[in-house]
Amino acid sequence: MERHLAVIEREEPRIGAFLRVTEDLARSQAAEADRRLASGEGVTPLTGIPLAIKDVICVAGVETTAGSRILSGFRPPYDATVIARLREAGAVFLGMTNCDEFAMGSSTENSGYHPTRNPHDPSRVPGGSSGGSAAAVASGEAVYALGTDTGGSIRQPAALCGVVGMKPTYGRVSRYGLIAFASSLDQIGPFATGVRDAALVLQAVSGPDPRDATSADRPVDVLSELEAGVEGLRLGVPREYFQVEGMEPGVKATVERALLVLERAGAELVEVSLPHTDYGLAAYYIIAPAECSSNLARFDSVRYGLRVEGENLLETYLRTRRQGFGPEVRRRIMLGTYALSAGYYDAYYLRAQKVRTLIARDFEQAFLHCDAIVSATSPVVAFPLGAKLADPLAMYLNDVLTLGGNLAGLPGVSVPCGTSEGLPVGLQVLAPQWRDATALRVARAYEVARD
Ligand code: GLN
Repeated sequence: MERHLAVIEREEPRIGAFLRVTEDLARSQAAEADRRLASGEGVTPLTGIPLAIKDVICVAGVETTAGSRILSGFRPPYDATVIARLREAGAVFLGMTNCDEFAMGSSTENSGYHPTRNPHDPSRVPGGSSGGSAAAVASGEAVYALGTDTGGSIRQPAALCGVVGMKPTYGRVSRYGLIAFASSLDQIGPFATGVRDAALVLQAVSGPDPRDATSADRPVDVLSELEAGVEGLRLGVPREYFQVEGMEPGVKATVERALLVLERAGAELVEVSLPHTDYGLAAYYIIAPAECSSNLARFDSVRYGLRVEGENLLETYLRTRRQGFGPEVRRRIMLGTYALSAGYYDAYYLRAQKVRTLIARDFEQAFLHCDAIVSATSPVVAFPLGAKLADPLAMYLNDVLTLGGNLAGLPGVSVPCGTSEGLPVGLQVLAPQWRDATALRVARAYEVARD
């Protein structure tokens, strides 16, 4: 822990991965871990290991703001379930990491506080929205980190920062205590430097929770296949995922080389098709804003967070929300409210839900022919700060290869697979629902074969 606090002190001026470092809490948890290790009681693989936490996951007594001014000063009175489980396991909390406001973004530039920089090249973004968590692991500030993934926010920053990131099957991990963005898509998951560490963290935080009705009572078996290799597995290569708009040739070539590594390790590559890929982005950018407009209605200044007084109650709501939310969050609330309003609901929201079903069926069909699907995680490498800020559509295109996994509720891992123009590239592995163990197995097999 002391070593990581020293790295944080050295690296933060350059990277800005953290919004808050919880040094006192870390020291007391480390002392508790020392006691456990001395007595041998209550020792788990995570005891004493320092982690960083995305600022959207509530930690009792620690300011948690979702990267937003509207929650400045908010100290949750309770722990999210994942936090309670890590505390129980003897973990050490280093602090809260920067993110796009309410997890809306792909570059961490939408933070209400400051941007985070990519440790591989500080003139570039770390990806987002969990960019602080990815950068904290990539720079050695934290051993592992928690992030959230609604459309790619774990996998994409993992790819851009050259670390492993995993989005579990929807329902694998409790969302209790997660500040909601889009409830039917959000999942919490780990960042680590290797697949094995990510799997250990996922194992520790998974499992049913009576406080989240969408958490599923499934066996927690994510480690069960880890070292089984890919000999005899069929890996689906979706034609459409290699032809998306804006795919950089260097990324494509790097991922194609990674597929050959998997083939040499014994996997059979089969071509599959996900015919509705082109409609995924449009459907996601209706469904996610619709859910966000509903979830963010609760920030009304009455019970907690920022309050800007007006002449009357309505004025107070308006002033608080106008000052407290940044431009991207306001854009999403307006888009979502519009898509849900009378007369437009059928044309936008309902239609987007139908497309969501078609996309889930595409994956079901593809998985009849393969055990997992492999592709690039992001069509591009880390881009310069500011490059896509003026063009929301260009920013949204970062998610084109990841958001299908959210719409269909699938588990997905991003594992580093080389570089393009000197910057990290991620290989994405998607598996059928509840086959988190298979996604991790393929990613691990790649790591072993690559090394
Ligand atoms: N970049 C996507 C968005 O802005 C995904 C964000 C996320 O996964 N939280 O909605």
